Amino acid sequence: MPYAPSPTDPKQTPIRINLLSDTQTRPTPSMRDAMARAEVGDEQIGDDPTVNLLCERVAALLGKEAAVFLPSGTMCNVTATLAQCRPGDEILAQATAHLIAREGGAHAALGGFQIIPLPGPDGQFTLETLRAALRPPTRYQPPQTLVSVEQTANIGGGTIWPRELLISIAELAHANGIATHMDGARLMNACVATGISARDMATGWDSVWIDFSKGLGAPIGAAMAGSHAFIDQVWRWKQRLGGAMRQAGVCAAACVHALDHHVERLADDHANARALARGLAQIAGMQVQQPETNLVFFDPAASGMTGEKLVAALRPHGILLATMDGRIRACTHLDVTAPMIDETITLVRDILRGA
Ligand SMILES: *Cc1c(COP(=O)(O)O)cnc(C)c1O
Repeated sequence: MPYAPSPTDPKQTPIRINLLSDTQTRPTPSMRDAMARAEVGDEQIGDDPTVNLLCERVAALLGKEAAVFLPSGTMCNVTATLAQCRPGDEILAQATAHLIAREGGAHAALGGFQIIPLPGPDGQFTLETLRAALRPPTRYQPPQTLVSVEQTANIGGGTIWPRELLISIAELAHANGIATHMDGARLMNACVATGISARDMATGWDSVWIDFSKGLGAPIGAAMAGSHAFIDQVWRWKQRLGGAMRQAGVCAAACVHALDHHVERLADDHANARALARGLAQIAGMQVQQPETNLVFFDPAASGMTGEKLVAALRPHGILLATMDGRIRACTHLDVTAPMIDETITLVRDILRGA
């Protein structure tokens, strides 16, 4: 079951401009130095000092009691639902959420949960939509136990949930005995773009995690925060799923380095995303969603070429992009510079002109 044609296929032109995803970042030389120098121990028994430091940093950053280091963001979502829901329970999330379509059905397969896809534009839903989806508890209805949001909303266009909306959703959920989960794969992008602290963005949300292997540029790892009781439950599932590690401080050191050096610079990625959107929008017929963070969704269909064909035409020039749910998604990150953005805009324009 292939994921996609391998972008590193040696028969193809080497990639020069990699806009596929912010997961494509390579650890920088100074990040590798930090990894090489990391103090380590056995993470599984709580003895890795660098993992412990990272967990303290993330708990403080997100304003929660405790945090746990996990191999991936997906394992954060999976252990969060396993820790907070019981078989037969219902989770409420926007229809394009990662936990619905991109986690291999883990929440149904491992937890026996069903996820209700809530409608709404740009990967978000309103307070009224959530209220309409709530049902009075009866013997007939599956218990509704968790509401989840993505900050930022990936397939929604990297959009930022307004803080006031997050607070009112959390209040409504809690008033109905429902726990709140924030998939913060790109939470730090939202924080840098708005100037709102991660702690304030996470207010009212019981479980919150950030991904280090996206725009923060680490090779591996995510960390999830919440109450002591919640983190204890997550640890049980981490152990059960084989996510408990050994000298993981080598990886955690990259994450600590990312917190120190790669957060503020996310603003550069956002500026590059805006520049890309501005340039693309000048091409006749191009439909471009105005980016709020580092994701630029666009559709060239009305310019004379399908998204798939444009992606294929850019690849021989060493530019890597992909379509996602019908549009092209370009993702700016650590390894994408302003001149690369200019070159991409020029090439897209030339290719569409020739089409
Ligand atoms: C990438 C992503 C995840 C999963 O993170 P991995 O580290 O790739 O497992 C979850 N949610 C969102 C919104 C993401 O973009």
